[in-house]
Amino acid sequence: MIFDYHVHTALCGHARGTLDELVEAAIDKGFAEIGIADHMPLLYDENPDLAMAREQLPLYVEQVLGLKKRFAGRITVRLGIEADYDAATMEERVVMMEAYPWDYIIGSVHVLDGWIFDDPRNLDRYRDIDLDEFYAEYLYAVGSMVQTGLYDIVAHADLAKKFDMRASIDLRPHYRSLLEKVKAAGMCYEINTAGLRWPVAEMYPEPEFVRIAAELEVPVTLGSDSHSPEDVGRDFDRALQLVRSAGYTELATFEARKMGSAPI
Ligand SMILES: [Zn+2]
Ligand SMILES: [Zn+2]
Repeated sequence: MIFDYHVHTALCGHARGTLDELVEAAIDKGFAEIGIADHMPLLYDENPDLAMAREQLPLYVEQVLGLKKRFAGRITVRLGIEADYDAATMEERVVMMEAYPWDYIIGSVHVLDGWIFDDPRNLDRYRDIDLDEFYAEYLYAVGSMVQTGLYDIVAHADLAKKFDMRASIDLRPHYRSLLEKVKAAGMCYEINTAGLRWPVAEMYPEPEFVRIAAELEVPVTLGSDSHSPEDVGRDFDRALQLVRSAGYTELATFEARKMGSAPI
């Protein structure tokens, strides 16, 4: 059973396609489920190119719940959301997390010390930082996100590599420490194929992370992080090859924030 749990919508301001086109794309691929998971309002940045505005969140939920009903019998639609972790703005985010019947919440770190490091408009700062420290800080922040206990799925776990700016340190101890937190929190992580479409030209997370995760028996799921109908389920043949080669035989599924599993 294959499905895509990380699909963005036009409400985020940087994606294309109607909701129906996204769902039809998943049906065309023969998927059993599609999880819509747009960006929750970021709260640390109100730029409409980055995420929906606060007042659009109820509309988003209503639209996805409408899809669930309309496509019932053809494909299962899940109501997901990609919510940031940013310590300074958590209070308001928690209110949003508790207000709606999410099937799952994807947890992301896109900002460190006010720097949205994965936005191509903010590349200058990479010249001034120590990349080793940046990777360590990023992975530690992801661990802090996990330890809040508020999320279900770790998004693009090694997003720090997006622009192919590489650390020189051995990242394996950092991966292991993060994955032990993921396991303790009862969460899973995603194989996110969007990295293939950025300068790094690799899936997130890298194979070594997946190998350690499989060894620790941390569950895994799949997401394209698509921002257009063409990218729904994109490169999932490669994602499946990666998880199978690490020894996984099932993927994590979610309904009403309860994790289940589906054989692959
Ligand atoms: Zn993200
Ligand atoms: Zn995303």
